[in-house]
Amino acid sequence: MKATVALVGRPNVGKSTLFNRLTRSRDALVADLPGLTRDRHYGIGRVGEKPYLVVDTGGFEPVVDEGILFEMAKQTLQAVDEADAIVFLVDGRNGLTPQDKIIANRLRQTSRPVFLAVNKAEGMNRAIVAAEFYELGLGDPLVISAAHGDGVRDLMDMVLEPF
Ligand code: GDP
Ligand code: MG
Repeated sequence: MKATVALVGRPNVGKSTLFNRLTRSRDALVADLPGLTRDRHYGIGRVGEKPYLVVDTGGFEPVVDEGILFEMAKQTLQAVDEADAIVFLVDGRNGLTPQDKIIANRLRQTSRPVFLAVNKAEGMNRAIVAAEFYELGLGDPLVISAAHGDGVRDLMDMVLEPF
C-alpha cells in the first residue's frame, strides 16, 4: 500500500512546482487514476525504493468569501482527510501571511502528520527564513526550494519514514 501525500498551501507558494519535481522521475506516472475525481491532480513519486502517491490540491485553493469568511475548498479538505501525510507549503520569500495561519489552524485539527515546508529558500539562511514560521505551531519548519531541489529529498525522507 503506497503512502498518499497531499500538498497543501495558499496560492503561489509552489505546490505545483514541488508536485512536478516529485513526479518527474523517469517512471513517473502523472494521470487521473480511475475511480478518483478528475479534479485533483495525482502523480507517482519515489524516494529510494518507496513509491508514493502525491496529490497537488492546487485546483482547490482556499477561497475568501466576502473578505471575511475564509475556508479551504471542500476538495482540499477531502484530500487532506484521505492523505497519509500532509506537506503544508509556505513562502519563505513572502513570509508568514494571514492565509497561512488560517490553513495551519485547519491542519492542526487533522490526525494526519503535517510537515511544514518553507519554500523558495534557495540562497537564504535556513535558520532566519524558518524563524517566523514556528508561530504556526506545526513544529520545526523544513526549509526547501522546490524550484532548485534544495531540501526536497530530506523532506520526503521524513514524510515517508513511517511507510
Ligand atoms: P502553486 O500556486 O502553489 O501551485 O505555486 P506554483 O508552483 O505555481 O509556483 C508559484 C510561483 O512560485 C511560480 O512563479 C514558481 O516558479 C515560483 N516558485 C515555486 N517554487 C519556487 C522556489 O523554490 N523558488 C523560487 N524562487 N520560486 C519558486
Ligand atoms: Mg498550483
